[in-house]
Amino acid sequence: QYYMLAQMTNGEQLKALLDSPKNIVISGHVNPDADALGSTLALYHYLQTLGHRVQVIMPSELPQMLDFMPGFHLIWNYERKQKTSNTTILQADILFSLDYSALDRLDSMESVWRKATGYKVLIDHHMQPEDFAQSRLWRTSSSSTAELVYDYFAELGALEQVPLMAFECLYVGILGDTGRFQHATNAHLFRIIADMTERGLNSNYITNMMTNSFSEKKMRLLGHCINKMSFLEGLDVGYIALSQAEHQEFNIQRGDLEGVVNTILQIRRIKVAALITERKDRVKLSLRSKGDFSVQEVCKNHFNGGGHRNASGGMSRESLEETLNRFKRLMNEDYASVLRTTAK
Ligand code: 5GP
Ligand code: MN
Repeated sequence: QYYMLAQMTNGEQLKALLDSPKNIVISGHVNPDADALGSTLALYHYLQTLGHRVQVIMPSELPQMLDFMPGFHLIWNYERKQKTSNTTILQADILFSLDYSALDRLDSMESVWRKATGYKVLIDHHMQPEDFAQSRLWRTSSSSTAELVYDYFAELGALEQVPLMAFECLYVGILGDTGRFQHATNAHLFRIIADMTERGLNSNYITNMMTNSFSEKKMRLLGHCINKMSFLEGLDVGYIALSQAEHQEFNIQRGDLEGVVNTILQIRRIKVAALITERKDRVKLSLRSKGDFSVQEVCKNHFNGGGHRNASGGMSRESLEETLNRFKRLMNEDYASVLRTTAK
């Protein structure tokens, strides 16, 4: 089947804007992941080489395991740099939104982003994009926003000018969002990777940095999680719930739980995996599935969230116990027949 490449809306307009040096801000979603970092930093490196003034600003702390990425230390964390960030955002000529489809994913940065009057651009692969950008490159069939940023470079005819660092960042994003090519892949993606490899990308180096990056603490925490993993009787659903007390006991920091929910899916029979964690002000759910079962629907309809069919997140204001019970009830009752009939 022919893979349709989406065209950027108002691409010519944006291209014309970029003809002269501009003040540019690029943002990704709160709790940025590998794709948010990879896509924003790749675009950053490219726009830098064109002579623009570019700043990447994230709404919250970065995952330290990705500190090997070129440009990582130049990113601002909005939580720690609000005043300067506000000024920079309000003065920007162009504002890029990468790897999120709705402005509420900017958390406390949302209002200033709405207020900003610069030209807004959205590059993203999440469902149901909010209509806030003048120019948009959006495709849910893309593996990652990193894939779309490559497509953007290609559409600009700029691949020759893209620095190698940018391809390295894109590869980080692709590895992250495909779970190292376990899901969301497509033929176009593999062609992109072949092309980036011909242009000098050392994919093995990036894979090694992404894969063998655990601290001993993180590995012990994974062991603890696997030990307390539970299953729903008669359903191919596995889950892990972590309390605040456990967060303290294991000194859980941002990024330490990255990948834990996917471990549950490594069990052959499992179709749906959940990691339910008690935070200070809310309970966070991280859901994954194999095949046709949509955890996006579960998160969107019941947990005030969303994402992708096979990887979604959401939250609840109830207690950990109540949230867990509601999740179990949903699986045991509302979704039981769908769970039994969908292919994995
Ligand atoms: P994670 O489980 O790793 O937090 O998130 C998995 C996927 O769901 C990511 O693609 C992320 O963008 C999306 N996601 C996570 N939390 C939320 C949320 O609260 N709202 C929405 N719309 N998407 C989310
Ligand atoms: Mn993404």
